[in-house]
Amino acid sequence: MNNVTHRKRIVVLGAGESGAGAAVLASVKGFDTFVSDSAAIKEKYKDLLDNYRIPWEEGEHTEALILCADEVIKSPGIRNDAPLIVKLKAQGTPIISEIEFAGRYTDAKMICITGSNGKTTTTSLIYHIFKSAGLNVGLAGNIGNSLALQVATEQHDYYVIELSSFQLDNMYDFHADIAVLLNITPDHMDRYNHNMQKYVDAKFRITQNQTADDAFIYWNDDPVIRRELEKHGLQARPYPFAAVKEEGVIAYAADNEIVINTPPIAFNMEQEELALSGTHNLYNSLAAGISANLTGIRKEDIRRALSDFKGVPHRLEYVAAVRGVTFINDSKATNVNSCWYALHSMKTRVVLMLGGTDKGNDYTEIEQLVREKCSALVFLGVDNTKLHAFFDPMKLPTAEVNSGMKEAVDAAYRLATKGETVLLSPCCASFDLFKNYEDRGDQFKKYVNAL
Ligand code: ADP
Repeated sequence: MNNVTHRKRIVVLGAGESGAGAAVLASVKGFDTFVSDSAAIKEKYKDLLDNYRIPWEEGEHTEALILCADEVIKSPGIRNDAPLIVKLKAQGTPIISEIEFAGRYTDAKMICITGSNGKTTTTSLIYHIFKSAGLNVGLAGNIGNSLALQVATEQHDYYVIELSSFQLDNMYDFHADIAVLLNITPDHMDRYNHNMQKYVDAKFRITQNQTADDAFIYWNDDPVIRRELEKHGLQARPYPFAAVKEEGVIAYAADNEIVINTPPIAFNMEQEELALSGTHNLYNSLAAGISANLTGIRKEDIRRALSDFKGVPHRLEYVAAVRGVTFINDSKATNVNSCWYALHSMKTRVVLMLGGTDKGNDYTEIEQLVREKCSALVFLGVDNTKLHAFFDPMKLPTAEVNSGMKEAVDAAYRLATKGETVLLSPCCASFDLFKNYEDRGDQFKKYVNAL
């Protein structure tokens, strides 16, 4: 007699931070777990999987081992139109994200942050406030350890989670107690068939399953967010913020103070004392302050944390001043809108270094700021054709570099005059010349420090 019961099979596709963590959680919860990555798996994740005796493969996807899954957990890096994903969908296999899976196994309060720009800064800031106030909090999503691994091996009361649109794409029943939507501007259009509404819909998934007991924090002046709210309404309690006091907003800056009018008691502090500067960081600080005030963290703890936050590397990071020229590393500006905010916050003339892997960019957004603020440009990419087509008519001194960062830093330094700022804010991904944006920013810092 065969009385072997079928264990539910979970296949994890992609063994990076999120995939390896999801596999550990699946295995701990007793599922028949298998991990497959079409590329090489990093040693540390192989060791983790081996420790839990989880079978894995790398460099290929063996369909016979994958198509028999009851459920698939997909890494956010894998496109929805990859042949294997299309096959799984066609046969009706549910495909979820690591965050969706992990959410099933914890009752912790979830504070989730998304937006086209400012996610990492705001997530890190909220985590910093919660942590320094003494709460038992985990940092997860695109940063920190994977949520699934923490749910499997630690116990937290709160999780602060950075969510990309790709993670949100495969979330269905997950529920955010506090959801933050910072802004929506075009990004990753190549992954959404150049259909902006698909990207917008992904971002709005952060509100799905929210109830009247939950909070939705958002930037009131974002036209896309407002339009969507008018179209669909909202179940959660709304907490809109803006740079200045305007009708309906709950948090804003006025008379050199930031004001957060959330019940039961409003919060305020001197704007000058905020650790992060620039309009975009005012938004990030307001969003973080609302989240903390709603959680009931003591006002003095929020104030202290908003003022002693150290910032995140590669986001408008000061590098050095060399013979009167200031160098700023904003390598994380991988789209046009984040470069707009970087340029907007500059107080001197700028030599702008931009270029890389174009994700369907429209440079019109920064055209005026480039005209107003830039004294020269450095194009840093293997293929700079699109940059030339757009910027050459401005007739700014321009250097073209397609060999690497050393040459680019030298060119920018040559073009800059005393009192100016060299700003690396590329508008583009970095995969043509660098491993990733961290590598690009680290190389920038290295060559600047060697000047
Ligand atoms: P993300 O994680 O969403 O990519 P980051 O916090 O890493 O965002 O910031 C990336 C870049 O985006 C920063 O260097 C800055 O220039 C810009 N930025 C940060 N916050 C905002 C915001 N609230 N609105 C617009 N741009 C922002």
